[in-house]
Amino acid sequence: MGAKDNQQNQDVLIPPAVNWHCQASCNYGCKFCYARFSEQQLMPRLSAEDGCLILESLSANGVSKVNFVGGEPMLQSHLETWIIEAKRLGMTTSIVSNGTKMSNAWLEEMAPHLDWLGLSIDASTDALHAAMGRGRRGEIKRGKSHHLARCHEIIRLAKDLGYGIKLNTVVSSVNAFDNMAHLVREWHPSRWKIFQVLPIEGENDGEIGTLEVSEEQFQAYVVRHQNALSDMNEIEIIGEDNDAMRGTYAMIDPLGLVYTNAGGKYLYSSQPVHAVGFEAAWSQVAQGWSEEDFEHRQGIWNWADDNATVRNPVLQSLSSVSNDEADGGAEA
Ligand code: SF4
Repeated sequence: MGAKDNQQNQDVLIPPAVNWHCQASCNYGCKFCYARFSEQQLMPRLSAEDGCLILESLSANGVSKVNFVGGEPMLQSHLETWIIEAKRLGMTTSIVSNGTKMSNAWLEEMAPHLDWLGLSIDASTDALHAAMGRGRRGEIKRGKSHHLARCHEIIRLAKDLGYGIKLNTVVSSVNAFDNMAHLVREWHPSRWKIFQVLPIEGENDGEIGTLEVSEEQFQAYVVRHQNALSDMNEIEIIGEDNDAMRGTYAMIDPLGLVYTNAGGKYLYSSQPVHAVGFEAAWSQVAQGWSEEDFEHRQGIWNWADDNATVRNPVLQSLSSVSNDEADGGAEA
C-alpha cells in the first residue's frame, strides 16, 4: 500500500457498527429478501480462522458492535466461534435471525457472549407470513408458515435467560394493514425496527414489484403502531423507509468483502477484510455510507448498555463466569 493510500485511509470514517452477513444461504423463502447472495453461495466458504481475522480487524479499527446476519446466520457452522471471538475482543454482539435452530441449549450457551437477540417477525398471523414467503421453504411450498409459533417460543426462552430482544419487521403490500401492537406489547422488545420493503437491484428485482408500499402507507403503519404503544416508552420503535436504509449500513458479505447499498445496489470492495484489513477494504466502498444519515436513522443507540446482564440474575451469573474465564485468557 502506497503513501497515497495511507493518506486516503486516514480520511475514511470508520462506522461504529457493522452488519456481517456471515452466511449466504437461507432456509426461508421471503419474497422481498435482498440478502440472497446467489453468487456467494457458489464460492468457497470462509474458514473459522479467516472469520476471526475479520473480527480482529473490526475491533482493531474501532468498530464497537457487530451484528451477525445472513442469509440465515444460524446455518453458519462457525457462528458460535465468531460470536465468542467478537465478545472476547470487546465488541457488542448481536444477531438477527429467523429463529432456525435457536434452542434453549443454544441460547444458554451463547448467553454470556451474545448481547442482543434480534428476530425477524413481519406479521400477526402465519397466514400473512405464508403470503410473503416468511417461513421454511417446505412450508411455503405447501402454502403455510409456522414462523410465528416458533418465534413465540424462542422469545419466551430468550427472555427467561435475560437476553435483550430486538424485533425486525418488513412492511410490504401484504402486511401494510396488519396490527402487530398486541404481540409487541406481549413480547416487550427493547427495540422494534420497522422497515419499508427495500428494492435492491440484482437481488430482489424479480419479486419486489407487487410487494412495494408507498412512503405514505409505510409511515401510516409506523405511526399507527407508535400510537397504539405510546404507553410503552421503554420500547424504542424506529421506522426506516427506503431513504433511511440506503447508504447508512456498513456491511460485510459472506466472503469477507465490505459493501454498501447507496443508490439501491450493492457496491463491494475488491478485496476481503481478512486479506487487507477492514480499513483498506472499507475505504474502497465508504463513499456509499454517510455518518450523518447513519446517525439520523438512529444507528447509534445504547447497545453497550448491556441491559440483559443487568436485568436478569441468570445471565448475570453466566456473565461473571465468562469474565472469570476471560481473566485466564479464554473467551468472554
Ligand atoms: S429469513 Fe432473511 S435471509 Fe432468509 S429469505 Fe427471509 S429475509 Fe432473506
